[in-house]
Amino acid sequence: MIDINDRRIIKRSIEAIKKLSSKLDNIKIMHLCGSHEHVICKYGIRDVLPENITVIPGPGCPVCVTTQKEIDTAIYLAEEGYTVVTLGDMYRVPGSRKSLMELQSEGADIRIVYGIGDAVRIAEKEGEKVVFIAIGFETTAPTTAAEVVNVRSRKIDNFYILNCHRQIPPVVEFLLEEGSNIQGFICPGHVATITGLKPYYKLCSRYKIPMIVAGFEPVDVLVSIVMILEQILNNSYKVENEYRRAVREEGNPIAQRLINEVFEPADMPWRGFPVIKNGGLKLRKKYRNLDIYYHEDIPEMKEVVNSNCICGEILRGKKLPTDCKLFGKYCTPINPVGSCMVSEEGTCYIFYKYRGFI
Ligand code: SF4
Repeated sequence: MIDINDRRIIKRSIEAIKKLSSKLDNIKIMHLCGSHEHVICKYGIRDVLPENITVIPGPGCPVCVTTQKEIDTAIYLAEEGYTVVTLGDMYRVPGSRKSLMELQSEGADIRIVYGIGDAVRIAEKEGEKVVFIAIGFETTAPTTAAEVVNVRSRKIDNFYILNCHRQIPPVVEFLLEEGSNIQGFICPGHVATITGLKPYYKLCSRYKIPMIVAGFEPVDVLVSIVMILEQILNNSYKVENEYRRAVREEGNPIAQRLINEVFEPADMPWRGFPVIKNGGLKLRKKYRNLDIYYHEDIPEMKEVVNSNCICGEILRGKKLPTDCKLFGKYCTPINPVGSCMVSEEGTCYIFYKYRGFI
């Protein structure tokens, strides 16, 4: 297990990356988490990598991958008189007409909370029709599942969720299937605390690509890059757990059972992607009366995004924020045009924060 406070490991890892990379052609590695992008930008990790080793951000921010249709649906519900409860970042993501923040300034009942439990308490206390925007990957799905079970067992009949939960492994499969030129993945450690390593085994063996489950310290990222380069040189592709201080092989079976009790896999679009097979989760039949789509006849929304915003290509690892002509000029964290500039996990936000306007 890595001692994250041992600075000698950082030095040794940088030296190992240099040595290994000298025997390789260009290598592109994708990570799948905004927290990894934070660490990479904050500690200047790209600056110590050899020229032929590139680490690119992928679709690892739950707010960023939420579609504009989902934002517009939340806006529709607020306009229809629902109390819409959300985590802070979703509040500022532009919809096709406006954001939830702008709608609140017009008098709509929009609340920001720390978690779904707060939303349930609002429903219980105030008796209004409350809809919670449930976003996130396998990390937040167990919390949503626990509250769904709670709400059903306590027969709270004025609480619903706008379900936007997504699963990480299917989007990795999509990227590999579409032939993205990626030679290794740094997989999000917090997701694996729930799922364990199993979901990555099939992908690793089918596509013969290194997959390293990594923690969120600079040393974790550097050691993960070393592990990927070693695998490529040895031609032995496997899933490895760099984050053993938090991730167990089997993950968290209690959380997995909760997700499985409440949700089932569902095909779902991601921002910048088409519909991804099993890319999302939907409520099982037993719990579907908590699904706002089951409860309310919501009109079909169109996905209308600003044509100058390249969030979709950034999320697919094809471009960087600095390729966007709006970056830092017309699109800033104060005045975001796309979802990637809103959340602290968003690549555009992180690039802006650590690299300035450019
Ligand atoms: Fe979209 Fe703004 Fe990022 Fe450009 S800088 S891709 S407009 S979020």
